[in-house]
Amino acid sequence: MMVTHDFIYTANSARVLFGAGTLAHLSAELERLGVTRPIFVGTPRQEAMLRDLAADVTGPAAPVFAGAVMHTPVAVTETAMSLVERSGIDGIVALGGGSTIGLGKAIALRTDLPQVVLPTTYAGSEMTPILGETHDGLKTTQSSPKVLPEVVIYDVDLTLGLPLAQSATSGLNAMAHAVEALYARDHNPITTMMAIEGIRALADALPRIVTAPSDRAARADALYGAWLCGSCLGAVGMALHHKLCHALGGSLNLPHAETHAVVLPHALAYNAPAAPEAMSSLGKLFPGDPAIALVQLAKQLGAPTALRDIGMPHEGIEIATRAALANPYWNPRPLEENSLRALITRAWAGDPPERMT
Ligand code: NAD
Repeated sequence: MMVTHDFIYTANSARVLFGAGTLAHLSAELERLGVTRPIFVGTPRQEAMLRDLAADVTGPAAPVFAGAVMHTPVAVTETAMSLVERSGIDGIVALGGGSTIGLGKAIALRTDLPQVVLPTTYAGSEMTPILGETHDGLKTTQSSPKVLPEVVIYDVDLTLGLPLAQSATSGLNAMAHAVEALYARDHNPITTMMAIEGIRALADALPRIVTAPSDRAARADALYGAWLCGSCLGAVGMALHHKLCHALGGSLNLPHAETHAVVLPHALAYNAPAAPEAMSSLGKLFPGDPAIALVQLAKQLGAPTALRDIGMPHEGIEIATRAALANPYWNPRPLEENSLRALITRAWAGDPPERMT
């Protein structure tokens, strides 16, 4: 790789423990932070595991809140905050995917308490200073160093049970962060290095996970890739792909990871003519047309490839086109309404992405 321009890189500091069985270090990490009475947060689906963990680490009376849901609704955070205020806690332990980590961040934003995060998906939120919250159906996003976790424990064993379909879409969601980091306005040699390695690790690991979901080595490679891709998301600005996914999730309530999985090849094909450096890096990982290769990978993983298959009605094409054009993010290729509508129509129908010219 060549350093072709001056750059600024902001490292988001977190202490990271990576490996199988690293959950065993949680008590020591809490002690290091001086945390004696943390709140344990998670989703209803992971409540049993969360309660077992809380009981193991701080005893049966540990405060547990298992009400995290997608997109961090402020009402849910307020319910959690009332437990925080009643319980005299001095730290946060978040065990789960992006929804859980979002709740942990929302509590940290309001209290500045230290967080130890145990990710169980590949979404990458633990590596970013970004918090998206919803209030009365409106999602607002902010960036604050207060929400960055102090410690992230990547325990590969916590991902062994991530259902196959979710492993595939969550992995593609992670890759999307890295793909957009390659052509981000503020991309730099450090994020490019992480992006290429993250995409490589996930592209290699996800097919192995589909064949053998509890293959620890494949799970370790995928989690390592997800960490790098999440670091890219935390370090540079995202573009059309993330804007489209936010528009589709926000205005049509489509599922997060699945939407990313479907849209990525189309957004990449749209940006390809304006992102030669990124396409050259991706071409080394996916010889031929990288956008087509990403569709093939999604199919191989059994991930959805059409927005209509994940609940988007045909009328959504117009709604999403308008939403994507409202307050657009910076993008390497200017946003042109008809081309954007054509992109969303193809993604809706599951047609192949626009061919690179
Ligand atoms: P999720 O956290 O909503 O998880 C989906 C479901 O899977 C939940 O019920 C969860 O309990 C369950 N689950 C998670 N891990 C599991 C496991 N190992 N085994 C079994 N079940 C498991 O899904 P997600 O895709 O990780 O997160 C999506 C949310 O994260 C969205 O709200 C998105 O906006 C947000 N997000 C934010 C950032 C950021 O930087 N702020 C980054 C990525 C995603």
